[in-house]
Amino acid sequence: MLDVIVIGMGAHGSAGLFHLAKKGLNVLGLEQFEQIHNNGSYHGLSRIIRMGLYEGDEYLPLATRSFQLWRELEKEYNEQILYMTGIINIGNKQSPIFKNTLSSAIKHNLDYKEMDNNEIMSSFPGFNLSSDLKGVYLKDGGFLDPEKAVKAHTQLAIKNEAKINYNEKVLSWNDKTSHIEILTTKTTYKTKKLVIAAGAWNINLFDIPGLPLSVVRQVVGWFPSKNKSLFDKNKFPVWILDDGKYHGYGFPEYGNDGLKIGIFNHLNEKIYPDKYSRTITPEDIKLLSNFSSHFKETGEGENYNTCMFTNTPDENFILDKHPSTENCIIVSCCSGHGFKFSSVIGEIISDLCQTEQTGYNIDLFKISRFL
Ligand SMILES: Cc1cc2nc3c(=O)[nH]c(=O)nc-3n(C[C@H](O)[C@H](O)[C@H](O)COP(=O)(O)OP(=O)(O)OC[C@H]3O[C@@H](n4cnc5c(N)ncnc54)[C@H](O)[C@@H]3O)c2cc1C
Repeated sequence: MLDVIVIGMGAHGSAGLFHLAKKGLNVLGLEQFEQIHNNGSYHGLSRIIRMGLYEGDEYLPLATRSFQLWRELEKEYNEQILYMTGIINIGNKQSPIFKNTLSSAIKHNLDYKEMDNNEIMSSFPGFNLSSDLKGVYLKDGGFLDPEKAVKAHTQLAIKNEAKINYNEKVLSWNDKTSHIEILTTKTTYKTKKLVIAAGAWNINLFDIPGLPLSVVRQVVGWFPSKNKSLFDKNKFPVWILDDGKYHGYGFPEYGNDGLKIGIFNHLNEKIYPDKYSRTITPEDIKLLSNFSSHFKETGEGENYNTCMFTNTPDENFILDKHPSTENCIIVSCCSGHGFKFSSVIGEIISDLCQTEQTGYNIDLFKISRFL
């Protein structure tokens, strides 16, 4: 019998499998698609990582540890995964993106600089900001290459004796008290513990009455500029910008040509992961193109692609035991801000599977807050 089966080799599942394998457990990862694919929530070349945490103090120890673990992973994998560009969180003075980042930076003594719109535009000439907007710049921010991170976690898990079966979908699972039985498209497995890290598909793998999860369609696009130096990753930071109407985010040039732009929750379309439209519509393009007016000298968008957020009502994660199956751990539902934490969440998954507890405070992520 296996010690642990992890469903989903995306952001959190791959990190969990890596840490479990490193602890010497007999583990199997199951993934419905190929090793790297663009059907879930981790594709798209870049994910923000930051100490400017406007979501709450509880995330700070997790962010600190996740930075350490990403650096350790890079060393072990021998490739760059983390790019430190700095981050600027921008909004008007009422915006939580601006206000909460500033208060968190002050409270936790972070290395930050408060800037008005003119100071931002003279430090980073790619911005085109109205006078009501202010920003908090933090040196401790940048982006991760998510596909490379997933590859590193899965390959190093295998190096540590984990097994991974790709193109094998989990259809259902049953708590048999002495063990958990898992039915896939290929066979049946027995395991002592189960980790469900299936991202947007989590909603198909557990039905917990009262747990209100929603999957929301996202779109990102790249906006090339004739003036390439404006969005060079050595000069331009990752950014989050609340303009009073939309809460956008984006990245300097990396992978594709130009500035990458997304809007949190995009058009708020609730979807099902297996049957949503990945066709880019004029409405998708209009939303992102309009937002690109906050930047100078960008051309028309290109390379648009879709992705999914799995949201909880309070936008905090789920990281907890299943309410009726002690030996099943449910992970993620990260509401669009979870990738950066996947390195530490992997470590927490392994703590929970091995000793049923963790040194991190994860009370904020309990399922019982909704039941
Ligand atoms: C456009 C976009 C931008 C984002 N930006 C940021 C950001 O800047 N910073 C940040 O921190 N976070 C960001 N996020 C959020 C982050 O990427 C997600 O929170 C994270 O990828 C979720 O990880 P996951 O492991 O839950 O899901 P995924 O990474 O999607 O992995 C789930 C895996 O489970 C597999 N699976 C599902 N069902 C089954 C089954 N039945 N059997 C076998 N395998 C199965 C899937 O195929 C998939 O590979 C963003 C997300 C999107 C969509």
